[in-house]
Amino acid sequence: MFALLERECRRRLAVCCVCSLVLLGLAAPLNAQQQPFPFSNPQKMFDQFFGAAPAEDRAELDKIEIPVRDESQIGERASREYLAELRRQGIKVSTRGDDYEYLQALIALVRPKMENAARYRTIRVHIAESDETDARSFPGGTLIFYRGMLKFAENEAALVGVVGHELSHLDHGHQLYDAKRMKLMQNTFSGTNGFSPDQFFRNGGMLMRSFSKPFRPEDESQADDDGATWAYELGYDPREMAKLFLRMHERDRGVRPGLPSFMQTHPYHLDRFKAISDRYDKLQAAMPKDKLYLGCENLTRRIPWSVKEF
Ligand SMILES: [Zn+2]
Repeated sequence: MFALLERECRRRLAVCCVCSLVLLGLAAPLNAQQQPFPFSNPQKMFDQFFGAAPAEDRAELDKIEIPVRDESQIGERASREYLAELRRQGIKVSTRGDDYEYLQALIALVRPKMENAARYRTIRVHIAESDETDARSFPGGTLIFYRGMLKFAENEAALVGVVGHELSHLDHGHQLYDAKRMKLMQNTFSGTNGFSPDQFFRNGGMLMRSFSKPFRPEDESQADDDGATWAYELGYDPREMAKLFLRMHERDRGVRPGLPSFMQTHPYHLDRFKAISDRYDKLQAAMPKDKLYLGCENLTRRIPWSVKEF
């Protein structure tokens, strides 16, 4: 996920509270058919398996494999529901046109940078006809770009950074952590590998939680770092991506609510600006480049730099 507006954050906070309650019910069916559950306190169970993951927990989860087919099913279901929700809100979604073609061209450019590029050979893109400045990715390789983000980016260099950010989430499996936790829990307490995407979605709360609740701040930082690095390696100026956050900071100044820390999905805009600027300095020190491309005209005309330099 890329950036949230205030009202979006408030809406998600409401969703989040609801689904936390729903999710607690998840312990019951698992509990009934397996070993005695180790936690009598549902909140502790929630924190253990679905709350913030400490580093050692993440290392354990990284070892859990979600097969490609399972990931595709999870992503298809999640993106389908998300798109249906957009349509319910009256937001049109399209998979053709200049914006679509343009984004596909940029994705084709960035995708080979992914460590797991072979796993995500096809990236599906949906354009949401909305002024929101957001973009998001779903497991299996589906991206949703809000038209507002294309406008807000101002040039191709910034947009390539955003594309890289979303592809990085896929590359690191950031959205698969809940599925991995469920699988780990299954393995631990039933001794069998009973995990399936169906089971993952049996409880509606899981769907809402995994795909409504934004990513963890450390995942967002990693995605920013990849996006900036890949843009630089491709010859674009990653400072344009940094500036995008500076503009968001200016835009949202004074309207940002005092969100509780667990809702601060993305590190604050200014922190992101600084982190990407630092990354740029390190990249320049390691592999200096005199000329870096911006591509304002490219974005305006939806013609990628790979096709024409202005
Ligand atoms: Zn993100």
